[in-house]
Amino acid sequence: MSYQPPLEQFEFCQYQPELAYFDSAASCQVPQSVLTKLLDYYQHQHANVHRASYARGRAATQCYEQARRDCAQAIGATAAQVSFQASTTSALNGLAQQLPVAWQAGDEILLSSAEHHANILPWQRLAAQHDLRLRFISLDRASGELGEWQHLLGPRTKVVSLTLASNITGTRFALEPILAAAQQQGAWTIVDAAQAVAHEQLAVTQLGADAVVFSAHKAYGVAGCAVLWLSQALLAASEPFTVGGGIVTGVTKSHANLVTGIHKFEAGTPNVGAAVAAASGLAWLQQQQQLGLHDYLQALRQQLWQQLQQRAWLTLLPTGKQHTPVIAFYSDEFQAHDIATWLDQHQIAVRAGHHCAQILLQDWQLPAVVRVSLAAYNTPAQIERLVAALDAGWQLFAD
Ligand code: PLP
Repeated sequence: MSYQPPLEQFEFCQYQPELAYFDSAASCQVPQSVLTKLLDYYQHQHANVHRASYARGRAATQCYEQARRDCAQAIGATAAQVSFQASTTSALNGLAQQLPVAWQAGDEILLSSAEHHANILPWQRLAAQHDLRLRFISLDRASGELGEWQHLLGPRTKVVSLTLASNITGTRFALEPILAAAQQQGAWTIVDAAQAVAHEQLAVTQLGADAVVFSAHKAYGVAGCAVLWLSQALLAASEPFTVGGGIVTGVTKSHANLVTGIHKFEAGTPNVGAAVAAASGLAWLQQQQQLGLHDYLQALRQQLWQQLQQRAWLTLLPTGKQHTPVIAFYSDEFQAHDIATWLDQHQIAVRAGHHCAQILLQDWQLPAVVRVSLAAYNTPAQIERLVAALDAGWQLFAD
């Protein structure tokens, strides 16, 4: 049976049926069932978690720990290795500062040119603190795949931190050989799965990484929660990212003894509602994948790709052999932001700019691109509308 986009499950599709929302790579819209779960948590269980001596506090704790188990199961992990963080950005900052490495000037960190700023700035800060060298695997302009990396990996490489999929081109990179080689060198390996999580069944233990992280708002959950998986080795060796209440076994005026398990990464009051929504979003996503979401989105992407390719005034950015349903393009005739503004006037939401991945656009000498990213609530009719609006703009404004 072919996939039916579940429009009735998204409130915005009812009260704003004319809106074609093509910015899900930034944030997905949230299914009603996830919102109901979130509301239900706040109405019926909400309290501060852990150490509560009353029933409602225990219920909240139960919700939170169940969310951890559910998220862990969704990514092929055990709950003891999954922590909730505020965002991918905050998790990457935490990792950068607390990785158990005795830094020496000249040590190297390997990234790619496709990284989101969230996976560049924390390493730049660390590099400035310890006089480290950042190295970048370049992205091949023709194929959209990662270029040569073997010569960039050596005994000085202490960390390899890479995105699993580009938030601009949509290429899903074949990271596994790089991660395996990095681990053989003794480097810590980190995967930013923010752009991959909505489009593949993550099996975190099989990637060959020490840390895998993604934000729930990119997987039909809500903002304020990221899922961070850590290898046993990194979990044991890393210090907490932040310190404070909830992660101690005892505190004196001069010293604190910390818990040793996954909870040491969750100082302070956690965002329980967002964690509950994260688990619910992932469960919803899994259900949709079973109904054929993946193939549906790839077909939709193909429809758009073919249509855009026929417009000589547009240039599509290359996308690798495997890709998420994301397409980026630019025009020599019109600025990216003008295209996005024009589309907005037609109730079509796309994103224009550098997409927090300026290194890639600098490498490719592009000031800005338009990005269309697809999700479960997009339809073939919306793709037709998008292309028709682009054509109308071209006819009106082109010389
Ligand atoms: N990494 C990638 C690949 C992203 O696409 C994004 C967001 O667009 C992030 C990290 C940052 O995610 P957040 O803003 O949820 O921290």
